[in-house]
Amino acid sequence: MAKVVKFGGSSLASAQQFKKVGDIIKADPARKYVIPSAPGKRFSDDTKVTDMLYECYELAEAGKSYKSKLADIAARYREIIEGLELNLSLEQEFAIIEKNFKERAGSNYAASRGEYLNGIIMAAYLGFTFIDAATVIFFKEDGSLDEKKTDETLSARLEECDKAVVPGFYGSMPDGSIKTFSRGGSDITGSIVARAAKVDVYENWTDVSGILVADPRIIDNPAGIEVITYKELRELAYMGFNVLHEESIFPVRQQGIPINIRNTNAPEDNGTWIVGSTCQKSKYVITGIAGKKGFCSINIEKDMMNAEIGFGRKILQAFEENDISFEHVPSGIDTMTVFVHQDEFMHKEQKVVAGIHRLANPDSIEIESDLALIAVVGRSMKSARGTAARIFSALAHVNVNVRMIDQGSSEQNIIIGVADEDFETAIKAIYDIFVLTRL
Ligand code: ASP
Repeated sequence: MAKVVKFGGSSLASAQQFKKVGDIIKADPARKYVIPSAPGKRFSDDTKVTDMLYECYELAEAGKSYKSKLADIAARYREIIEGLELNLSLEQEFAIIEKNFKERAGSNYAASRGEYLNGIIMAAYLGFTFIDAATVIFFKEDGSLDEKKTDETLSARLEECDKAVVPGFYGSMPDGSIKTFSRGGSDITGSIVARAAKVDVYENWTDVSGILVADPRIIDNPAGIEVITYKELRELAYMGFNVLHEESIFPVRQQGIPINIRNTNAPEDNGTWIVGSTCQKSKYVITGIAGKKGFCSINIEKDMMNAEIGFGRKILQAFEENDISFEHVPSGIDTMTVFVHQDEFMHKEQKVVAGIHRLANPDSIEIESDLALIAVVGRSMKSARGTAARIFSALAHVNVNVRMIDQGSSEQNIIIGVADEDFETAIKAIYDIFVLTRL
């Protein structure tokens, strides 16, 4: 049995947090490969080390003085090292970083030092081998991950060591320069290492006890999700759930490795299991509710539209020509509606409308703004009769007008469009009917 364990920034923000992490790792000998993030916030208005590094490098690049900012960063690490009573100095590392900043090594290099240095501390603290991610994770010239080279090099390297620390978030380009993933990318490193080491579980440790059924900013103390499939998570992530970096799902999914989201501050909690498929029913008919505000709908009408071959393509072409991606396209007999992000669409509105007229010659076009989309997701919906009816009666009950309904063919997802101002009320009503009253 082997596990990859990835720890987020808040789990490694101070020596005290590091100790909790050390205890978690030592409690289970299967926890062999450790992926640390950079130190995160110690309190709510603290600054993440990654952000400090970006700021510091910006000063260096602008030719301004950056040494005191770099000294602040060094102090963050010193505090951790001293708190752990380690016999370790990062002085030489900081001298190299300072020199590379002066030589404009790039903001990717700068940001990557957050996890690189934390990895050195973590390896020293645990007595594990330190593997610099730049030597095992490779990008191609176009910036995409070189999966083959990475997988081969990484598996061979991991086979040589029983226990190792691989810092998250970065790898190297063909010319040897450092490149990072997008923000939150240590999750991806964890997933890549899990695949290469062919482990049984990828544990992702953070500061919440798993994924919640709904956004805690809208629902007071929402229920947690015990098991969720990759597919369900994908649908919810698209609508704003951000527990894990979206791209981190793919490498482990290929290998059928489950991800277990756990809480460093409450290690006794089981957290959430993210799996390929499961025979476990979710506790409620729905697995999760997520949503986003700020959409706009373009309703296009044309008599006999359904008989006109190529009508849909022409409409979407008008969006494509203006570089706008669409979110949903529900259609009726003589109508077609295109949902887009309002902020993307706003400035190009008249161009798109003119394009639709030119390409498809519709009878009318109407634009509605300030709409919110809510996704109600659940693998158990397929076998539960009346799910949609329950959602709509709950919404009617709280006087929310439904503007759009779209049920994906997977029957795992119902998307509902409501006015922005009804967003919170609608989510509460749906949560109440499925989770609180458990209908
Ligand atoms: N430290 C990086 C960030 O703040 C990467 C990560 O934490 O996953 O985005």
